[in-house]
Formats: sequence, structure tokens, C-alpha cells
Amino acid sequence: MASVQEILDDIARSPKATSDVGKVADYIPELAKVDPRQFAISVATADGKLFCAGDCDTPFSIQSVSKVFVLALALGKAGDSLWKRVGREPSGLSFDSILLLEREHGVPRNPFINAGALVTTDSFLDGSTPREALGALLRFVRAASDREDIHIDENVAQSELDTAHRNFALAHYLKSHGNLVNTPEKVLGTYCHQCAIEMTTSQLALAGRILIDAPDMPNLLSRQRKRRINTLMMTCGHYDGSGDFAFQVGLPGKSGVGGGILVIAPGRASIAVWSPGLNDYGNSKLGTEAMAQFANKTGWSAFG
Ligand code: GLU
Repeated sequence: MASVQEILDDIARSPKATSDVGKVADYIPELAKVDPRQFAISVATADGKLFCAGDCDTPFSIQSVSKVFVLALALGKAGDSLWKRVGREPSGLSFDSILLLEREHGVPRNPFINAGALVTTDSFLDGSTPREALGALLRFVRAASDREDIHIDENVAQSELDTAHRNFALAHYLKSHGNLVNTPEKVLGTYCHQCAIEMTTSQLALAGRILIDAPDMPNLLSRQRKRRINTLMMTCGHYDGSGDFAFQVGLPGKSGVGGGILVIAPGRASIAVWSPGLNDYGNSKLGTEAMAQFANKTGWSAFG
């Protein structure tokens, strides 16, 4: 069987020959400027090896992949009481749906759709200023990846904040149902900055090792929390494309509109793939295709 590096090199060759790379997210003006023909994939194994191919030293906006890290931190702060404010069911609707929130009386379906992520950010903010919370988030991601050069892109954060009308609508709706402690302005300011964290695929794959049992990792999450976060990534990590991703790849993953996807191969490795062009669900088109190829070629699966 081919080695992990040979498989990655092979996968990184196919995007060059593809004409349909998907469409970059243009509702956040700064993201609309990104060249859609970039591609990178990195694998960080449980035993500490790192493999990569393509543009894996190019930082990109992790966007909703940040929801995984903020969920871990919010659970650390609020414990299981967080589940009174946010559910654990796939949404079957787009990531920023207002309809669902109205129907379910202000309790978002899961922590990975935008409404649910606003609740987890609100919970994580409890008792802190946005600066303190974002500082804690950056320290967590840097400690998880053992990389200090991870930052927030202020231009991306501001660009999203200037155009975040739907997210403000969701936040006001949550507030009207008593499911937001802080003001919509404070929550959205923090949320847009967490989404604007920039990482390379190698940094992201290394940080994702908090979700596998890696012997050399700092003990940042309990086993039960890892299992639950992985489960939510499998069922809800790709919005209304979650079932399709699970069917094609067979591994838990969380996507972001910057074109990144963090995928966990339980017990084996954390994988990050990035290509900015998105499919109709708002998930990386080539990233999803690459992950399907990777899972097929390695045989890695959440189901043994
Ligand atoms: N910051 C983006 C938003 O709220 C994140 C969405 C995503 O990455 O899926 O619209």
C-alpha cells in the first residue's frame, strides 16, 4: 500500500487538472479576494508525525472550523449546562437559517450552525471581555498545535462584522428568547474575530490532535468530551451537507466558508484540507473530494 505521503502527493495533483473548483464565499468581502485555485492538505498522526502536500504553508481564514475550538472551551467553562441552551441534532437547513430558530423558540439545533455558535461564543464570553476571551482562544489553539505564529486577521474580522446582518438578526432573535447573556454587539464582535483566525493546514491538523488520543498532547479535553465533539462533527459538521460528507468520507469533520475542513480519523490522525472554492452547501468542493479520496486510499474510517 502507498505511504501517507505518496497518497497526499497524488491527491494534491488532481486539483491542478480540475476546471470546476467551486465558488469562493463572497458574502464576506475579504474572502471574495482569495484565489480559488489554491489547495493544501496536512496529516498530523497520533504518534507525532506531520505529512503535507500543496500550499500547506499558506495561512487561510478558518471561519467555522473555529466553532470546534470554541465549543471545547465553552464546555470547559459551562459544563453540560450548555446543552440546555443548544441542541445536538443535525439542522437539515443552511448554516445561517433564521427559520429554524423561530420554529424552535430560540434554542439552536446544534453548536455548529451559526445560531448555535453564537450561543457557545456567548457562553464562552461569560465573565470575560472579548479581548480576554479571544486571548484565551488563541492560547488554546497555539498550545494545541504547539505553534505560536497563529493570529487573527483583523481585516477579515472587520469585513465580516461590517456585513454581518444575518448573524445580527440571529443574535437579536436569540436575545429576544432570553438565550443570549451578552449584547448582540459583544457576541458578534467576538464571533467575527474567532472566525478570522488564520492557520495553515499543518497548524490546523496539529491543533486537531486534541480530538484524538495522542500520547504527547497536553491534556486539554476529557475522553468523553472528545467523543462527543467528534460525534457532533460527524452529524452536524457540514450543515445540510453533513449526511453527504459522512457518506462520502466516513470520518467526522468540520468545514468553514474559508474553504478549510478539519477531519478526525479516531485514534490515528487529524487531517486538515483547504481549497477556497465551495460547493452548493458552502463546504470546500475540492476539499471534500480530496477527503473522500484520502479515506478511500487509506481505508481510514470511523467504523473500523
Ligand atoms: N463567519 C462565517 C459566518 O458566520 C462562518 C460560516 C462558515 O464558515 O460556515 O457566516
